Amino acid sequence: MTTRVPSHVWDVVIVGLGPAGRALAHRSTALGLSVASVDPLPRRPWKATYAAWEDELPDWLPRRTIASSVARPTAWTTRRHTIDRTYCVLDTSALRSLLMKDSGTVVSGRAVNLSPTCVRLADGSILNARAVVDARGTGDSHGLAQQTAYGIVVQPDVAAQALCGENAVFMDWRRDNGTLPSAPPSFLYGVPLGPDAYLLEETCLVGRPPIPIPELTSRLLRRLRERRVIVPPHSDVERVRFAVEPPHSPGSSRASDPLRFGARAGLMHPGTGFSVATSLRYADVLAHQLRDGRSDGLWPWRARTVAALRSLGLRVLLNLDAEQVPEFFEHFFDLPIRLQAAYLSDRANPRGTAAAMRRMFSASSNEIRGVILSSALRPRNSMN
Ligand SMILES: Cc1cc2nc3c(=O)[nH]c(=O)nc-3n(C[C@H](O)[C@H](O)[C@H](O)COP(=O)(O)OP(=O)(O)OC[C@H]3O[C@@H](n4cnc5c(N)ncnc54)[C@H](O)[C@@H]3O)c2cc1C
Repeated sequence: MTTRVPSHVWDVVIVGLGPAGRALAHRSTALGLSVASVDPLPRRPWKATYAAWEDELPDWLPRRTIASSVARPTAWTTRRHTIDRTYCVLDTSALRSLLMKDSGTVVSGRAVNLSPTCVRLADGSILNARAVVDARGTGDSHGLAQQTAYGIVVQPDVAAQALCGENAVFMDWRRDNGTLPSAPPSFLYGVPLGPDAYLLEETCLVGRPPIPIPELTSRLLRRLRERRVIVPPHSDVERVRFAVEPPHSPGSSRASDPLRFGARAGLMHPGTGFSVATSLRYADVLAHQLRDGRSDGLWPWRARTVAALRSLGLRVLLNLDAEQVPEFFEHFFDLPIRLQAAYLSDRANPRGTAAAMRRMFSASSNEIRGVILSSALRPRNSMN
């Protein structure tokens, strides 16, 4: 690592070393590109629990980056569902170490100005490149829909009691968290972090504004009390707050903008807050594009159509009444697994995404259909 900026024209300069920036640096270097990356805190460890569906992960990712995996996790809506996919929690420190290896030059600094070929840092130094990639995450989240969560790490026997014997619970919308049916809903997420630990997390999927973390804390403790779980003192905790939408519309850019990647580019699914697996997968697409000097291959019409459909899905989630949410997810988990996967994981499959949404619409009550129709008719800027 260096903090002095060598004078050089790099093939690519990447701004931001979260999972997306690191994946792109690693894959671009593997293709023989000269890469410099910049981040204010490049040594910062990744503390968040990153998870993904196993079938979303790219083939080049070694198994050792997976901390745990669960076949057929459960979801609870108005009833119990099993999801016929394998869910993985990533070993974030193994993932980070892998991506840091052979990933070019790392510069410690804060970018203050980005153009398609030049980055200026706060200390005045300049990085020149054939292509600059902005991977600064979702950035300032003011006014954007956000996800919040509060979780504790417990031992497997404690988790078994909390999860009623299930191996992993992707979403549990039951109201035994002390809230009235009319209160904004949150769900319990429970996944193994490895053989000796589980994460139990009360999650606000998306809100504008989201449920505050102190409220999620008391809901989690209430839920665990109801399930006769004794919370061990001094458990590790995880606090989550991030925007699920990018600051710019996905796929839109002006000639004066650098390329964008990761959550910054709209690779995050706005209905789940997941982006890590997508960034790992699409790092290769962008690296090849950079090597071959092609134009932006991340946003073919298919991806732009899916982004528009997902944005409608986000508006529906934000507009549903609290009491409609469990029914809405009941219809989602009743979808055939190929349509669930198309909606959650395939950003280039407008046909599958639209088919999932159509089926959801047909299965929904008239009240939920009304919300879907009014969300479709309401332009993006008047969502608040
Ligand atoms: C606790 C928690 C749990 C989560 N769980 C999951 C999960 O299970 N699965 C999932 O897919 N997602 C999860 N997420 C969301 C996840 O964090 C994002 O999907 C992911 O981090 C986005 O990656 P990114 O690299 O695009 O952006 P970021 O991770 O936000 O990285 C952006 C980087 O840019 C740097 N940066 C910012 N400004 C500048 C600047 N001016 N100059 C230089 N560098 C700059 C930042 O320091 C940062 O390192 C979780 C988030 C949290 C907080």
